[in-house]
Amino acid sequence: MEKTVVLVKPDGVKRGIIGEIITRFERAGLKIVALKFVWVKEDIVSRHYPEARIELLRGIGEKTLNAYKDFGKDPGESFGSLDPVEIGRMINKWNIEYLSSGPVVAMLLEGNQAITNVRRMVGFTHPNLAQPGTIRGDYSIDSTMLANERRRPARNIIHASGNSEEAKYEEELWFHKNDVHSYKRADEDVMF
Ligand code: UDP
Ligand code: MG
Repeated sequence: MEKTVVLVKPDGVKRGIIGEIITRFERAGLKIVALKFVWVKEDIVSRHYPEARIELLRGIGEKTLNAYKDFGKDPGESFGSLDPVEIGRMINKWNIEYLSSGPVVAMLLEGNQAITNVRRMVGFTHPNLAQPGTIRGDYSIDSTMLANERRRPARNIIHASGNSEEAKYEEELWFHKNDVHSYKRADEDVMF
């Protein structure tokens, strides 16, 4: 069984859809093993989105460049740069401001291939390109173009760990060992 970290970001909290999001995971058979409602300062958030992780910045920048290309827009106008790492660094600054701008729900979910399955349920980073049926696709139509023109990150409601390395790092960042509970759900024997 794998564990993965999910955050309901400030836009999800302010829209009052915490319950709907949690329900989707519970319904699919993912077990909540830790859960909290916190408003964290920039120091914690900047460890969640570390500037030193160049691969994170490059990944963000490349997603943006692809979206601008598909929509025939010039990223130079929004960013003054065509370098994915530079663009990623700018967006990541907005990420840090944004995630510390209000309370978030942090949860640790456990289940069969939890990291991949949760990402599948969360959907693509840009809500306008996320499939219907995914959380981002069902609850938002924001795009990175609109977001970045407004000097903010895409409001995509939710964060989920991207791989096992991130999941382990984020579990340690967001939760103390004592916050994590081991128990059996009544439907486990039937579902698995
Ligand atoms: N982001 C953005 N535009 C992009 C890529 C990322 O606004 O083109 C923001 C968005 O809020 C995203 C966060 O940066 O959730 C982290 O990016 P990442 O590539 O890790 O996407 P995720 O794992 O959240 O899908
Ligand atoms: Mg990510």
